[in-house]
Amino acid sequence: GPEARLIAQYLPYFPFKGIPRFYDIGGFLSEPTVFARIIDIFASRYKHQNIDVIAGLDARGFILGPPLALALKKPFIMMRKKGKMPNSISSSGYDTEYGNRSGLTVQRDKIKSGDRVLIVDDLVATGGTLSSAIELVHLLGGTVVECACVVELKMFIDPTKESGLPSRSELFQK
Ligand code: 5GP
Repeated sequence: GPEARLIAQYLPYFPFKGIPRFYDIGGFLSEPTVFARIIDIFASRYKHQNIDVIAGLDARGFILGPPLALALKKPFIMMRKKGKMPNSISSSGYDTEYGNRSGLTVQRDKIKSGDRVLIVDDLVATGGTLSSAIELVHLLGGTVVECACVVELKMFIDPTKESGLPSRSELFQK
């Protein structure tokens, strides 16, 4: 419906030719009622799941994570690209449809052993970025409760074995 178009607009050939489809999901930021609904949906899903920490991924996870953290009254932490934060630990690099990316980092003292972590990003495509975030949580002894995204690109759901992409169950294996 009209609200879905605000959330994800399809653009051909962005950021470069060869990308089958890029979804610009920035529309909800100019529509406070849609933005609020997204946060409400996530807040009601996670309020009884004993979340200790909400981890947002660079960069749109930094937009969606903080209002959710405030709604749940839980700490928000950043998972950033390398070289941005002191005393941080890195996950390994990963492949996406855009090519290889270096891993994410998180500050070591932000996740304690046994913490139940909710990971937040705007969109999941191959799952490479989320896998890297999950790896960071596991490196620090935390558990990933779930990964919350607004958009899941259908073409990456249940990928075939030949594609070499992680399956949904593999993403959540410790
Ligand atoms: P993945 O690692 O799952 O292949 O890609 C997800 C990451 O790349 C997310 O951080 C997301 O912001 C970005 N990304 C990949 N494809 C798209 C897209 O079509 N639209 C938007 N907005 N972000 C994308």
